[in-house]
Amino acid sequence: MQVVVFSAKPYDRQFLDAANTAGGAKHQLTYLEARLSPETATLAQGADAVCAFVNDVCDAATLETFAELGIQILALRSAGFNHVDLVAARRLRITVARVPSYSPESVAEHTVALMLALNRRIYRAYNRVREGNFALDGLLGFDMRGRSVGIIGTGRIGLAVARIMLGFGCTVLAHDPFPAKDGMAMGLEYLGIDELLARSDIVTLHCPLTPGTRHLIDDAAIARMRRGAMLINTSRGAIVDTRAAIAGLKSGAIGLLGLDVYEEEADLFFEDLSGQVLQDDVFARLLTFPNVLITAHQAFFTTEALTAIAETTIGNITAFAEGGRAVHEVSTEKLA
Ligand code: NAD
Repeated sequence: MQVVVFSAKPYDRQFLDAANTAGGAKHQLTYLEARLSPETATLAQGADAVCAFVNDVCDAATLETFAELGIQILALRSAGFNHVDLVAARRLRITVARVPSYSPESVAEHTVALMLALNRRIYRAYNRVREGNFALDGLLGFDMRGRSVGIIGTGRIGLAVARIMLGFGCTVLAHDPFPAKDGMAMGLEYLGIDELLARSDIVTLHCPLTPGTRHLIDDAAIARMRRGAMLINTSRGAIVDTRAAIAGLKSGAIGLLGLDVYEEEADLFFEDLSGQVLQDDVFARLLTFPNVLITAHQAFFTTEALTAIAETTIGNITAFAEGGRAVHEVSTEKLA
């Protein structure tokens, strides 16, 4: 198939080319740096398939252009598909495929990296030592052992986080509308969200972004958290109401905040904007807090994850080309 890859970075090319040529080239891949949007969708002209990433805009207007161009499949190189208008995809008969699981450990381990770096203020210590400041004031942390970690969403990533936290000797609390058998077997204590928030020293988010989880962590949820607790979000930015988080940081309700995702990240993340004036005042405010650590959606960024993402994406396109169905199609059957 002719495949146009949007938002392509050098690392995407490296891993997709390797997956595509293993055992002989399967598809013709064209790499575009442009982010997919209704304005750039026409760049897919001549292709049968489009490959997109998390901040590409796959709304009805984009998909309508694809339908006019004869695009048959939208192959996402992500697990999340909250950025795709599935109702429009079904109406336009465009198959949407994704990579449901590529390395839950990549995201889980980054989640724990954020927890530890925040707890022990590693980001501050790194800068201090480089400047010859060896004072410890302001770097006081706490033992992880014995602390309560509340995991919201115990799917693949949430359970991988739970396994690591159990290894640290933490008490792991969980909230999920569909409690996982593996989670219960591990000894996780499933609770309602209010009780989880009230009992957790660390709250970490691993549910998908849906209309029901948008701003799940808002003013009311933050008010229910233990005062000074740590909040980590490596799932999707809009699960946290950023303005509420800023208010929580200012009042001390949130003691430490670790983010790998941000609700308005699409205009920021994955690009080098270091020579430009930051236009997002909310994000700029977040950067001023000494107890906030932000990474730019890099939790998935390991060799193992990129290899698996590329192999599954090429596998989805190949299966669709050969049999009309991708291996991991996003189901649109239950949509209104
Ligand atoms: P998964 O589908 O295996 O698990 C999601 C879990 O969330 C399920 O058990 C589901 O029942 C639960 N859930 C749904 N609604 C909920 C709610 N209201 N409250 C609590 N739990 C709820 O998904 P996964 O592979 O574990 O990935 C989780 C999320 O992580 C993805 O949706 C994606 O947004 C995010 N993610 C981020 C990165 C990154 O690089 N930062 C990479 C991959 C995935």
